[in-house]
Amino acid sequence: MKNQHKSTTSVHAGTATDPIHKGIITPIHTSTAFDYLDVERHAYPRYFNTPNLRVVGEKIAALENGDAGMVFSSGMAAITTAMFAFLKQGDHAVFQNDLYGGTYHAVSKELERYGIEYSYVDSMDVKDYEKAIKDNTKFLFIETPSNPLMKIIDLKAIADIGRTKGVLTLIDNTFASPINQNPIDFGIDVVLHSATKYLGGHSDISSGAIVTSQKLMEQIHGSAIHFGGNLDAQACALLERSIKTLEIRVTRQNENALAIAQFLEDHPKVNAVYYPGLPSHPDYELARSQMSGFGGMLSFEVDRDPDQFVKNLKLIAPVMSLGGVESTITCPAQTSHAKLTAEQRQAFGIKDNLLRLSTGIEHVEDLIGDLRQSLEA
Ligand code: PLP
Repeated sequence: MKNQHKSTTSVHAGTATDPIHKGIITPIHTSTAFDYLDVERHAYPRYFNTPNLRVVGEKIAALENGDAGMVFSSGMAAITTAMFAFLKQGDHAVFQNDLYGGTYHAVSKELERYGIEYSYVDSMDVKDYEKAIKDNTKFLFIETPSNPLMKIIDLKAIADIGRTKGVLTLIDNTFASPINQNPIDFGIDVVLHSATKYLGGHSDISSGAIVTSQKLMEQIHGSAIHFGGNLDAQACALLERSIKTLEIRVTRQNENALAIAQFLEDHPKVNAVYYPGLPSHPDYELARSQMSGFGGMLSFEVDRDPDQFVKNLKLIAPVMSLGGVESTITCPAQTSHAKLTAEQRQAFGIKDNLLRLSTGIEHVEDLIGDLRQSLEA
């Protein structure tokens, strides 16, 4: 339903209640073999059209204000399937430099082998993206807020460039989640998620998602059935259940992240804080104009050895993933950006003492208390 609140959509969209036993949730259909007579299209898991795949795809599409949604066995399965669905030998694609490390490495290691050219844009200035477009460019690929410095790129300006130049626009919307940012509303063509993060939200499902128009989804689907990265029915059901609480989880995570960012910004032992919800963030006004919440992710620089700081934390766990109900912390220089050289990290502004925090849904006083005791240890 159009104009429905996200909390309602999170609960109800897609759900296919049980017509036989009258249960109110979607049953888990574990069948991999389906009758082919009297049906418009034969159902099969790898065709992405079995009941649980359809239900959860529909739910995520509704949350992203898109026409069609498909779910995959990981975020990278969704990202690579979308990329390869639109590219062929001799094509070119433009990528934001500040991408999730896995995507960055997939681009650098895979595209050239297939005879596909690519350019990285080391800037959040949309004019630089326009300049990078060539005659054979097929898409622009962005991520906002970016990892780990939470830089923001102008969604509408990127979408307009794509339309004017006749190239598609793809975004990895994992960090924002569909609760805080809906890129399709600004004209972006394809929205990608690592559903392992906020959509799953409990650190127990590996999954990915694509949301786009019916027309583009047909093209993606044509490749997806060959690559075979569908999510299995049990995981679909777990993902569907998790998304029912997405809005309340993310709302709490937004509130916690803002309060923590404010606390850290005022703390004398913190050198810098990167959170788009702080008025001191250089992209604060842009974030306000295109996000309905600033998200649960923030980064900050401590005045000491980051490992010592992390080891002193009692509640916040040193874990690489993000978006779960539990708060987690990583040191990008040692984890997500460890494969870059020290010079590359310096150029990106990623210092060795930078820590990235994924705020969970715990009580904010407990989280601030944990950070305070470690800062003051
Ligand atoms: N995109 C972002 C922003 C991520 O953080 C991740 C994983 O950390 C991915 C994509 C890849 O997702 P997955 O690990 O589910 O394949």
